Amino acid sequence: MVMVNAEMKRRPPNRNPFAETQAAAIAEVKAVYAELARRPVERNCTLLTQCCQFKITGATPYLTKGEALVAARGVRAAGRKALPERTDGACPLLHAYTGRCMIYNERPLGCRTHFCDAAGGAYARGEVIDLIRRLEKVDALLNGDGPRMLPGAVADALAEMR
Ligand code: SF4
Repeated sequence: MVMVNAEMKRRPPNRNPFAETQAAAIAEVKAVYAELARRPVERNCTLLTQCCQFKITGATPYLTKGEALVAARGVRAAGRKALPERTDGACPLLHAYTGRCMIYNERPLGCRTHFCDAAGGAYARGEVIDLIRRLEKVDALLNGDGPRMLPGAVADALAEMR
C-alpha cells in the first residue's frame, strides 16, 4: 500500500522548480521579442548578413542568459548539439552553406536591433531600453552573469542542456 501524507497531497505531482523557472524565462524572452516586433521602427533588412560577420564589423552581439537559452534551443531544433566551428570570424550560427542564420526565429535582441547602414542602421538604445531591462531581469532569475558574447553564451547554454 502506498502511503500519501498531507504534504504530498498538496504538492502537484512531478513539480520541477528548475524546469518551471526555465519555462518562465523562455516565455518572457519570447514576449520581449514579440513586443519588439510590434514596434513601428522602420528598417529594411535584405538579409545581406553583413552584421553576422563579426570580424568585419568588429561587433559581436552580447546575450543575457535567457536569450542564450532561447538561442540554444534554436540550435537544438536545427538538429545540432554544439555550436559549429567557424574560423573566418563570422557568427557560428551563420550557416556555412546556406549563408542564413540557423536560429533566425530565436536570434537574440542584438541581432534584431543592430541593422547595417544599408538597412537603416542600429536602433538607439533608448528605443529598446525597457526591453533590455526585462531581459536583465530574466538574467537575474536564471542566476546569469549579465550579457556575454554570443559564442560563449550559447555554447554554455547548450552544455547546460545536456
Ligand atoms: S545569431 Fe543569426 S542573426 Fe545573429 S549574428 Fe548569428 S547568424 Fe547573424
